[in-house]
Amino acid sequence: MELQLYNVAPRIPDELKFLETLSNNIWWCWHPQAIELFVRINPNLWRDVSGSVKEFLRMVPQARLEELARDSGYIRQLRAVQAEFERVIPKQDDVSKRMVAYFSLEFGIHESIRIFSGGLGVLAGDHLKAASDLKLPLIAVGLLYRQGYFRQVLDRNGWQTEHYPVSEIHNLPVVRGCDPSGKPVTISIRLVDRDLYAAVWVLWVGNVPLLLLDTELPQNPPDLREVTWRLYGGDKRMRLHQELLLGIGGFKALVAMGYSPAVCHMNEGHAGFLSLARISHLVNDVGYEPDVALETVWRSNVFTTHTPVPAGNEVFDINLVRPYLEVFANEAHLNVDRVIRWGIPINERDHASEMSMTVFGLRLANYSNGVSRLHGEVAREMWKHLWPQRSVSEIPIGHITNGVHIASWVSTRLWGLYERYLTPKWANNPDKAVLAAGIRSLPDEELWMAHELCRQSLVRRARRLMQNNFRYLTDDASAASFAKKKNVLDPDILTVGFARRFATYKRGTLLLRNPERLIALLKDKTRPVQFIFAGKAHPADDGGKRLIQELIQFAQRENVQDRLLFLENYDIGMARSLVQGVDVWLNTPRRPQEASGTSGMKAAVNGVINCSILDGWWAEAYNGENGWAIEGNDYYTEDEDRDNYESQELFNLLENEIIPCFYERAGGDLPVRWIKRMKESIVTGLGDFSSTRMVEDYDRMFYRPATKAYEELTADNAAYARELVARKERYVRNFDGGKLYIEQPKVDGSLENMHVGDRFRVSTRVYLGELKPEEVDVEAYYGTVNAHNEIISSVSEKMHVLENFGNGNYRYGCEVTCKVSGRFGLTGRIKASGKEWDNSVPGFMCWPK
Ligand SMILES: *Cc1c(COP(=O)(O)O)cnc(C)c1O
Repeated sequence: MELQLYNVAPRIPDELKFLETLSNNIWWCWHPQAIELFVRINPNLWRDVSGSVKEFLRMVPQARLEELARDSGYIRQLRAVQAEFERVIPKQDDVSKRMVAYFSLEFGIHESIRIFSGGLGVLAGDHLKAASDLKLPLIAVGLLYRQGYFRQVLDRNGWQTEHYPVSEIHNLPVVRGCDPSGKPVTISIRLVDRDLYAAVWVLWVGNVPLLLLDTELPQNPPDLREVTWRLYGGDKRMRLHQELLLGIGGFKALVAMGYSPAVCHMNEGHAGFLSLARISHLVNDVGYEPDVALETVWRSNVFTTHTPVPAGNEVFDINLVRPYLEVFANEAHLNVDRVIRWGIPINERDHASEMSMTVFGLRLANYSNGVSRLHGEVAREMWKHLWPQRSVSEIPIGHITNGVHIASWVSTRLWGLYERYLTPKWANNPDKAVLAAGIRSLPDEELWMAHELCRQSLVRRARRLMQNNFRYLTDDASAASFAKKKNVLDPDILTVGFARRFATYKRGTLLLRNPERLIALLKDKTRPVQFIFAGKAHPADDGGKRLIQELIQFAQRENVQDRLLFLENYDIGMARSLVQGVDVWLNTPRRPQEASGTSGMKAAVNGVINCSILDGWWAEAYNGENGWAIEGNDYYTEDEDRDNYESQELFNLLENEIIPCFYERAGGDLPVRWIKRMKESIVTGLGDFSSTRMVEDYDRMFYRPATKAYEELTADNAAYARELVARKERYVRNFDGGKLYIEQPKVDGSLENMHVGDRFRVSTRVYLGELKPEEVDVEAYYGTVNAHNEIISSVSEKMHVLENFGNGNYRYGCEVTCKVSGRFGLTGRIKASGKEWDNSVPGFMCWPK
């Protein structure tokens, strides 16, 4: 039966029209006063729609809206929020000013918009919110998944099953993206011999437009409509279609809407293909030669890697990608083999069967980073083979540690407290000393009371969820069994939370290695502990699913049912309750496989205390006062040994430090030592791990220099980019062509008996081929060495021409000062002059043979 479909919505009274504005900008989700406006309309309905404002406004009875339109208290509150909104959100978007385009396959902004799976997406969402708060000229690009990531349903055996409810587009806070003439934009990209069409939607995240591509269109054949159905669903070809759509279609959408970003930021390798669209645009629409376009593009791209596990870095079979890339390479006037080689490390070129999106991203970005200090180190080590001529310390991958969007994660109760006692900038990367003084002077009583209220709401929420989702716990659907679920957990006892993706390396079941010891903690009469777990396993990861099942089967034991829970379907809303309401946030990855981890930061800003392996962000955040470190070492040969040792360390910490500290109530009923640690945790969280700090870092270190570079490269019909291309050709001929030569440097006199402060002279003979001395830096290269006589931290000192023998032959020399003591190694090298080639892959360098 064919139906004609239509919606009937309540008529929003004029006085309340601003609610409609809010339904088209997710800004409200990090402004408690705005959320209050909805709660006040109908708290239960608001909870049931989980933040889907359009649905909410359609379901509110007309009479209730009429009533509020006459309620002067409500109208006053609404006007106050409206004034704030209009103060920070401009009426018109100036497309010409959006300089930075941020591409990601997922965005976690709010639980009502299910286009994310986990940490990577939530990080991207927090990035946009911070960019909005900072009024950065940023625009974002992603995909509009109709089904998104799965909904986790646990069966009676504790086995995860996946369900894909469909998001209705008219419930989402999106509007069609339009071109400058006001016409809705549809883009298409060519997939070998077919065209894939996508509609462009805009989701406003405060000041930041997020463009979302949607392939659910009648122009597409059925299999291509599915491209934007599921996040991380489907096979390799589906994933390729998604990434081509994101990178190439996404960039086309920007151009079609009139944006001309100077900088493109790839959040993980998924977005790598955008470089091809950028090059093609400069070639076809601006008229650059392909190499000039390439030079312009890579020098203004940013790439962030998130994956310290080699297998987690995405690769595509070359046989699969070649026909696709052939089309885009042709459009950009590039050779397809050359494009594919960008995704292959030099030493693998002869036998590679796959191209790596991380390699592709690193090669096509002047600015690259890992997401914590430790991850930066791991990434340099992991990708050093892309730069075979450099030592690890010169691998051009830096780090910008992740942060979380404070206003999205701090509980409203603490929000009130922070507003009253802290510097007005508390949520936005304030001066750390001022902040810390404020936090340390928070009244213990008030902080503890606010926190206990958060724990109570968490317990209430958990009980509600357990009643709704208790089928996996039992066959017994009797009233008695149902009632029992009402009383799980205790709102007044030490509560430990663990919620994250269930990947095996995160070791969600570490505590189960010693069930007796765990049960003793749970059942302790005077100082009990309770645990709340949550998290999804990737649909294809049976190992992760087994961990969930083990936990649930343990939780089903009669004697621990009320003290250990697994909550179904972890998402942003549940994450918020957990990181606000538990006392301890537990994290147990196998080091160094956690690139950063952000849930611990969310916990910290709420005064929750972290207990974690020294991995990811915690390796740089832990200071002895602000939480606990589960100590381990780097000498395990087997995971089994590591897991055994570290689980015992964890139990020791719980038994000897955490539990006694929580239950120590020497000063009346306040755990004074605990509260002190809570405050240090807050200092760390608000002080160093906000997304404001993170985005300011990206802006200062990457976006601004890249914007400037783009302007310089493109000025004067790309005169500078052309000059670089010409120089590069000479470098390739001379460095890569093996023409250059440098002799092992000679020292005047002897290097025996050197002391700090002593100086010596070195000189060397070089042959520079066609290159002129001003095109190269000839350097003395030295530093302290390890037991294998490898330089571990290097210094390079520029040498000067001492003699010109003609025909490209020179003698160079310089003076070296012994600044510190130690065992040193010395050599020399020729490199491309200046800093312009330091970040290129593999760069230009020549060492003594
Ligand atoms: C913050 C968050 C994550 C990432 O946290 P990790 O510590 O990296 O595991 C994952 N999922 C949700 C829903 C989150 O809110």
